[in-house]
Amino acid sequence: MVNAYNFKIDLQCPQCGAPAELDETETIIQCGFCRTSNIIHTHPFPCFFITPKQEKLSHLPVVYIPYWRFKGLEFALGPKRPAFRAIDQSYIAVDRPGLPRSLGFRSQTQRLQFIQKGIKGGFLPPSLSRRDILNQIAGGNKGKVHIGEILSLIFMPFLHDDHRVYDGLTGKATGMNSADLGIEKKAPSYRLSFTPSQCPSCGWDLAGETDSLVLHCKNCTSFWLIHEKKLNRVNTEFFGLTPKTDIFMPFWRFDLEFDHLNLSTMADLIRVANIPRVVQEEHQTRKLYFYTPAFKLNPKLFLRIAKQITVAQIDAKEAPRLTDALFHPADLPIDEGFQAMLPVLMEICANKKEAWDMLNREKIRIRSFGLVYLGFYTQGSEYIQDELGFSVLVNSLKFGRKL
Ligand SMILES: [Zn+2]
Ligand SMILES: [Zn+2]
Repeated sequence: MVNAYNFKIDLQCPQCGAPAELDETETIIQCGFCRTSNIIHTHPFPCFFITPKQEKLSHLPVVYIPYWRFKGLEFALGPKRPAFRAIDQSYIAVDRPGLPRSLGFRSQTQRLQFIQKGIKGGFLPPSLSRRDILNQIAGGNKGKVHIGEILSLIFMPFLHDDHRVYDGLTGKATGMNSADLGIEKKAPSYRLSFTPSQCPSCGWDLAGETDSLVLHCKNCTSFWLIHEKKLNRVNTEFFGLTPKTDIFMPFWRFDLEFDHLNLSTMADLIRVANIPRVVQEEHQTRKLYFYTPAFKLNPKLFLRIAKQITVAQIDAKEAPRLTDALFHPADLPIDEGFQAMLPVLMEICANKKEAWDMLNREKIRIRSFGLVYLGFYTQGSEYIQDELGFSVLVNSLKFGRKL
């Protein structure tokens, strides 16, 4: 079950040092004092700690113990329609049986800080990797795909005397002897860096929500994807703009290459997806693009929308001059959009059994990718896309931003 809980992070503005607060899903720090915006880069993944809260035990030395936190969507693939669930879980990242197995609810009211040099206390370095944990979540089932994840490492505070280890938040003794901990003195090195949120092409301040991985420049109409500590220009097109359009939703568009699956033209798609349409000559040559939302959404809706847009094979156009319409944040990384391709293909193919047999041994490669913004307008509690004839509940997008 997802309780849609997000940690708050305390940090300082890299420009002026003023205190700032971030939500776990945000990647951009906007400083209320000096008015600068900076992009936060974590390497190799976000890594936090929580300070101990036990005054009575404050004379004891602190040891920080790592937990992996996973939040995202899981698709289970097989010879039927994909099953899915939303996951919000944590797992201890070291093999110490006497310690709590997960972060537990007590941690949820705590604030996180990024791990940096000079934190006092001992540490246990993680011995279970990110991959180990994802395998553990999947329960060894290779047909499971995880997307939209926040996978971060959180160091929880514990305190210890010569004999026992105590929970640094509740003060309760754990089942662990301090002699068996194996504490290291130095904080592990996880790098944190900042770059100004400015257009690499013309120097203007970039626009976009603080939890978006894609930012845009209203001055030179360019789009930039935050990836591996850089702003990378991303080929972006638009579809379905009308005078009523007041919000743009981002979608990843893939040109894919398959080893086995015969799916490269519109005619192939009509056949495979069993679309009630007569195959025309133009369908035989029309190149096929695959779409997934570039934002987090409940899994059922995610699959439905990906299918709808892929089946529609829209004709997107060059970016217009950017107005003040809202941009829904693109918070689903491109590689996770690509990982979602397998469940989306399962959703599209009419014969699930045949598709599964095929996709099971399929190797999918990306030939090229881009971003397409679809124009919607707001009507009551819905966003409506007239040309494709579909709508999304405003609330379902709000929920997605907390995923
Ligand atoms: Zn500042
Ligand atoms: Zn620019």
